[in-house]
Amino acid sequence: MPVSDSTATGNAWWVRDGLATLDEPGVLLKDALDAVFTRWGAEAGARQQSYPALLRAEDLRTLDYFRNFPHLGSPVTRIRPERLAALAAHPPGATALPAVDLADATHLLPSAACYGCILHLTGTSADTPVLITTVAQCFRNEDHYDGLRRLWGFTMREIVCVGSAEAVRAHLGRHQERIAAFGAALGLTLDRQPATDPFFEKDGSRTVMQLLAPVKEEYLYTDGTAVASTNNHRNFFGERRAIRHAGRPAFTGCVAFGLERWVHALGDRFEGDLAAALRAVRRAGEGS
Ligand code: 5GP
Ligand code: ZN
Repeated sequence: MPVSDSTATGNAWWVRDGLATLDEPGVLLKDALDAVFTRWGAEAGARQQSYPALLRAEDLRTLDYFRNFPHLGSPVTRIRPERLAALAAHPPGATALPAVDLADATHLLPSAACYGCILHLTGTSADTPVLITTVAQCFRNEDHYDGLRRLWGFTMREIVCVGSAEAVRAHLGRHQERIAAFGAALGLTLDRQPATDPFFEKDGSRTVMQLLAPVKEEYLYTDGTAVASTNNHRNFFGERRAIRHAGRPAFTGCVAFGLERWVHALGDRFEGDLAAALRAVRRAGEGS
């Protein structure tokens, strides 16, 4: 059996260091879930896009990323050219590459799928709402990992709306209804709760602002796992990235699904029978 620190019953998946391996039933379930959420996006008028696998640190700086979420970041770097020969001659004995051998990091792995979308839309303007759906492998550096519930690397599907404040509100509201109906059809008890983003400064101005005017809602499975969230960014990204709607900084909002968390919740609901979960998702997806 592969080395892992967490496995599902029947070895449907393995997790080590917050990184998951799924066997075929898990892959099929995850893909079927993604197909349902992608279809919701298409039905809302979203176009599919995919973005670069890495984000530029310089771009993230303009979104206050290093002020708000420095602790989540997974910088990507390379070995300094002048250190290559020494490293080849004496490969590191330990598990880590020493920092002195590494170049400064100009890029990071994404911690949410919608950053790529927001950055891509920089400098654009529109008079009608723009809807985009995208999926990305996302990474969050956490102080602990927990099965498929809390991973370093996980798959996030998002449906992003860019437009007026009202269009964003309607987008989030419509998907809140869809998530609730889909959960009910699957027999998943999903509890909708206001939430705040995991800001670095727990008592910083952004955290307080989100507490005063809730802009994030999460859907929690019975064990507390947030399988989806809706997020109203207001006109923050519109202002920071010169994204305009009807001549003014656009409002943006996203609906986000953590696909491995849905696999976890359904695995639990169907007592490890991922094939039964897959049949249920296909049935519920058609009706949702
Ligand atoms: P948020 O930006 O709301 O924190 O994350 C969006 C969605 O990604 C969440 O609703 C959740 O489904 C998923 N997600 C967030 N963190 C993790 C994680 O550590 N592991 C997994 N598997 N999914 C996550
Ligand atoms: Zn998002």
